[in-house]
Amino acid sequence: MNQKTQVDWEMVIGLEVHVQLATETKLFCSCRNRFGDPPNTHVCPVCLGYPGALPVLQSAAVSAAVRAGLAFQCEIQKTSIFDRKNYFYPDLPKGYQISQFDRPYALGGRVEFDLAGDAHSVPLTRIHMEEDAGKSIHDRDVGTRIDLNRCGTPLLEMVTEPTIRSAKEASSFLRTVRDTMRWIGVSDANMEEGSLRCDVNLSLRPRGQLEYGTRTELKNLNSFTFVEQAIALESARQAEVLDGGEEIVQETRLFDPEQGRTASMRGKEEAHDYRYFGEPDIPPLTISSDLIETEKAELPELPFTRRRRYLSSYELNEKEATLLTSSRGLSTYFEGLLDLDLTPRSASNWLQSEVLRALKELGLEIEDYPIDPVGLVAVVKAVEAETLSVAAGRELLGRAAQERQDPRVLLESVEVQVSDAETLESWVDEVLSKHPQVEEQIRGGDLKPIGFLTGQVMKLSRGQANPKRVTELIKARFH
Ligand code: ADP
Ligand code: MG
Ligand code: ZN
Repeated sequence: MNQKTQVDWEMVIGLEVHVQLATETKLFCSCRNRFGDPPNTHVCPVCLGYPGALPVLQSAAVSAAVRAGLAFQCEIQKTSIFDRKNYFYPDLPKGYQISQFDRPYALGGRVEFDLAGDAHSVPLTRIHMEEDAGKSIHDRDVGTRIDLNRCGTPLLEMVTEPTIRSAKEASSFLRTVRDTMRWIGVSDANMEEGSLRCDVNLSLRPRGQLEYGTRTELKNLNSFTFVEQAIALESARQAEVLDGGEEIVQETRLFDPEQGRTASMRGKEEAHDYRYFGEPDIPPLTISSDLIETEKAELPELPFTRRRRYLSSYELNEKEATLLTSSRGLSTYFEGLLDLDLTPRSASNWLQSEVLRALKELGLEIEDYPIDPVGLVAVVKAVEAETLSVAAGRELLGRAAQERQDPRVLLESVEVQVSDAETLESWVDEVLSKHPQVEEQIRGGDLKPIGFLTGQVMKLSRGQANPKRVTELIKARFH
């Protein structure tokens, strides 16, 4: 009898990530590097590839590339080479893309992140600089139109070693890349807008086997969900092929989210298909130690490191630490609160309960939040000193954000909450003397009217009494 053995397949995944640099100009000309403008408004002889036009490498892109390389602990190469990668495509008028081939500007490095409490480190093979191609816009009625605004936009391509083993690990890797690129200010890294794009290389092997299987490549996945779905679908497809005794064809496949499947697009292209050769119009790129040292010195503490620091020194939970390091702006605001002597607990609570709520309500980013840490802390201190109730503090901050007012100005006109014992006692005396029958009732064991008495004190104080203290004082009378 021929019993079919169940093979335990292990996923082997390597990613190629394209990150569009948010520089003012394109990589080799001074055209504006901007997304969303009318088609073909940011073009010139260089990025259109007119014969004889000479590309000039823009230094801002090099600085940004170096910063990104350092953020991922790559070895920045003193000398690197630009090459021509030749292929035909309607949105590539030059007929080649200027890229880096066997001498990229950055080697090695890693992307570190925590996933479900476990530390992960995905090694990078390399990062290289290249220019983007234009865009074909397919329209059912008009046909295909070409927008060349994106031609020549600076890109970084990051290539990982094939050490990723699950869809979740792949998407967490990608989120970390996105967050870090934004954090260091080199890219918007927005998957929907295409400033962060990902190709997935995937193969299977029997668990325990060292040798890799044949891989397929899934191109241009443009959301984190698509990356995860494509990996799940493609690994299931490959397992089925292999379980059926057939072989995987090395090819490029497309993920179709509507059909929920991947489909063959073309055979895998090899490096020699591109006829790479050194770009004759651009001299070898020399990156000076000065530039590396400058970028190193300016590199901020990165979100991964900062998150760990929040966890180990601030008694914040995982969720809070992740939230507070999700953007540099939010984290800077949080640290601003700490600098003004709020405890991490209090700063985190106020940020979550008040600031994030207001941002959501007003549709703002933290950078545009009208209340600075000094203003927020003024209100928090008033609440902590009990001259303001929590509810009144919140209300005031909400109003300040809405009206774009300094909360300190609003604080001056707010009735100060009275917590001073002597004043409170005198109010309690007055109320009790007016309601002797209620006093009897409480002495008789019915505690319900304490709420009523507190209400009377609040009324007498025109809302200024600290209600918590008042209740405490009244209770103390009946001990
Ligand atoms: P190419 O340049 O032809 O795309 P590379 O060797 O540069 O090929 O690899 C591209 C990506 O594919 C890298 O991220 C690498 O880790 C990944 N990769 C290579 N071999 C495999 C494999 N057998 N299974 C899964 N991923 C792989
Ligand atoms: Mg590839
Ligand atoms: Zn141009």
